[in-house]
Amino acid sequence: MHNFERFLTEIGWDPSTVAVFSDFDGTLSAIQPDPASVVPIPGIAERIDRLAERLGRVAVVSGRPVSFLQGFFSERVELSGLYGIEHWAHKRLLVDHTAIDWLPAIRTTVSRAVDEFGEAAVENKKYSLTLHHRGSTDPELPKRMEEWVLERADLIGLEARVARMSFELHPPIHRSKADAVADMLQGIESAIYIGDDVGDRPAFQLISALLDEGALTSGAAILVRSDETDPSLERVTTDAIDGPEAVPALLDRILETIGSE
Ligand SMILES: [Mg+2]
Repeated sequence: MHNFERFLTEIGWDPSTVAVFSDFDGTLSAIQPDPASVVPIPGIAERIDRLAERLGRVAVVSGRPVSFLQGFFSERVELSGLYGIEHWAHKRLLVDHTAIDWLPAIRTTVSRAVDEFGEAAVENKKYSLTLHHRGSTDPELPKRMEEWVLERADLIGLEARVARMSFELHPPIHRSKADAVADMLQGIESAIYIGDDVGDRPAFQLISALLDEGALTSGAAILVRSDETDPSLERVTTDAIDGPEAVPALLDRILETIGSE
């Protein structure tokens, strides 16, 4: 936790130049077999809110739609949804306009996916969709899903992505969590990004690159490890903690450092 410790020594001077960015699933919440039933780890939302009150920027950066995240966090917390396609701040939702053109194609693909794999396996994210095979007893399912996803992607011009126990189809809009974070760095001198999954890789890489270049004075790319962690993420992160259960203590270290007013 070398980088994080250094980050703590830098942030007391001017909290308005400090940012905390975090993924949601598997980072602020434990992974559940049913993605709809996922909720934050107890005490997390309160800590995120207190940080948002004191720091320059606090944002949850997720592949989920903003509408899902809004239920958990106060209005002080910025929400970046669908890998940066949606951005919610100061009670306003901004949507990348090119995503809107893809709505009909996504809707059609969702209903085809439900026909093929059943309602429980399909998560409709409005501007994208996710097919989950977590908890399935059919050993052939991941392969079948992958083939179906690649075929659909090819046919309609959507992009296929592999995620934790799932496959995703996205419009060919090249937004990533790194773009979402980059848009929130104005006036920021110290920043951490916390995440657990391959979808967080671009954001991890961004933070590491900005630290190398000296564009950030201090910061950390913090991996939340689990049994399912892709080992290659160890190479693009600077620090690591074990599971979302360790996140409240991490946030407490920041809160203790900046003091509560
Ligand atoms: Mg995650």
